[in-house]
Amino acid sequence: MKNFWILFLVTFLGQNVFALDVFYPNKNVVTIDSPSTFFIGSSDPKAQTFINGQKINVHSSGGFAYVVTLDEGENKFVLSCKDELKTFLINRPVKKSTNINTPPSLVEFSSNKIFLTSENNVPLRETPIDYGINRMAHFEENIPLTVDAEKNNFYRVVLGENKKAWISKTNVKAFEGYLNPPASIKSIERIDDNEYFKFIFHLDKKTPYEIVEDENFLLKFYNVKNSPENVYEFKFNYSANTGTKKLMGYSGNYDGNDFILKIRKFPSLNKRYPLKNIKIAIDAGHGGKEFGAIGCCGNKEKDINLAIAKYLQEELQKRGAKVIMTRKDDSYVGLRERVEIANDNDAMFLISIHGNALPDNADPNKHRGTSIYFYYNQAKSLAAHILVSMNKNLGTKNDKVRQGSLALVRNTNALSILIEVAYLINPEDNALLIDTNFQKKCAESIAKGIEEFLTGNID
Ligand SMILES: [Zn+2]
Repeated sequence: MKNFWILFLVTFLGQNVFALDVFYPNKNVVTIDSPSTFFIGSSDPKAQTFINGQKINVHSSGGFAYVVTLDEGENKFVLSCKDELKTFLINRPVKKSTNINTPPSLVEFSSNKIFLTSENNVPLRETPIDYGINRMAHFEENIPLTVDAEKNNFYRVVLGENKKAWISKTNVKAFEGYLNPPASIKSIERIDDNEYFKFIFHLDKKTPYEIVEDENFLLKFYNVKNSPENVYEFKFNYSANTGTKKLMGYSGNYDGNDFILKIRKFPSLNKRYPLKNIKIAIDAGHGGKEFGAIGCCGNKEKDINLAIAKYLQEELQKRGAKVIMTRKDDSYVGLRERVEIANDNDAMFLISIHGNALPDNADPNKHRGTSIYFYYNQAKSLAAHILVSMNKNLGTKNDKVRQGSLALVRNTNALSILIEVAYLINPEDNALLIDTNFQKKCAESIAKGIEEFLTGNID
C-alpha cells in the first residue's frame, strides 16, 4: 500500500511539474490587434516542446517565451509536448481603410470663460494630451480657471499674460457668478518646524499655481494683481538653507484662501544607521482581484511584489527605518489610496515594487533587467542610486532609470519611485523572480540604494 502511495504521488506531482501550461494568451480563442504576439508558459525542460512544428527553447525552470507573427484574420497555433496538445485561435482584426484624421482645430472664444475644477487631484497640463510627462500641477476642487479656447476634449487655461496651459473638459464645472479677476497676496507667514520649511500665503481668493523644482525652489501663483505679467514668483533657496541640493519632498495646497507650502528639510542622519527613524512607505504593486502580469511559470506578479515588499520591510526595519506598508496581504488597494497612505503617514520615501511585462508587439526574450521610474526630478537621483545598487548586488541588467507618468510616482510629498525588478515574461528573469534568495537580495539592494542616496555626496 505504501508503495502504491509513493507511486501515486510521484506520478501525480510529476504530471504537475511537467505539464504543458500556457499563461499568455490567457484564453484559447482571443483577438489580438498586433502584427506579432508571444506565448508565455511552462513545459518539461527535458522534453521537446513545439509550436506549429517548430521546437522552442524551454528554460531549466520550465518557463518559455515564444514570439509568433500574426496574419490578419484567424491564426491557428498548436502547442505540443509529449502527448499533450493545446490549440489556440488568435484573431487579428482586418485593417479597415483608415479615415484620414483631420488635425483637431483650435477654437478661440470671443470672450474668456470661467470654470472651476470639479474635483481634487485634477491635472493641469502643458499640452492638450491626457498622457505623458506634461503635468504642471494637480489642483484641488474649486480652483477658478480662466479659459480662452478649446481643442478637442481640452480647454486652454490663461495663466498670467503670456502663459497658457490645458485642462480636460471632464475636470471642470461651470462657475455661476462674478469673479473679479486677478487675485492678490495679502501676506506671507513662515512657520518652520523640525521637519519642514512651512509658508502660508494669505490670498484674497484661490488662483492657479505651479511648483517648479528648480535650482531655487519656485512657487508661482498665476493671475495675481500687481505682478509682472500677472505671475507672482516665490523663490526659496533650498540648498543655501539645507547645505544640500537634494530635495526631500514637498506639498502645496489650499486651505480656504490660504495656500500652504511645506518643503521637507534634509534629515539629520544617524552616522551608523542612516535610515534610523526615516519613514519609508513600501507599496507592493497590484493585489487581490488585480494579479498584475503572469510569469512564465504561472506565478502572479502581485505575489512576487508582496514577497519582495515584505523582505524589504524586514531589511529596512533592521536598519532602523519606520516602515509603512500600503498592503500587507493579498488585498486590493486603489492607486490613489496607496499614495494617501504614504502621505497620511508622512513618508519621506515611497517605493513601489513591480515586475515587468511587455505589449504584444515586443519580444520577451530580448528584454531583461531592472528599470526604475520617477516622474518628478527630485526623485531621479534616488532612482539612480537604487538602480546602481540593484544592478551591482543582484547582477540584473541595467534597464535604465526612466521618467514615466504612473500614479505612484506622481506623488510629491515623498520621493516616489517605482521599481520594475525584472521581467516576468522573460524565462531567465522570471526564474530569478520566483527564487526567494533573489527576492531577499533584492530587498537588501534596495535598502542599500536608499542609504547610499542619503549618505552620498552626488545628487
Ligand atoms: Zn505591475
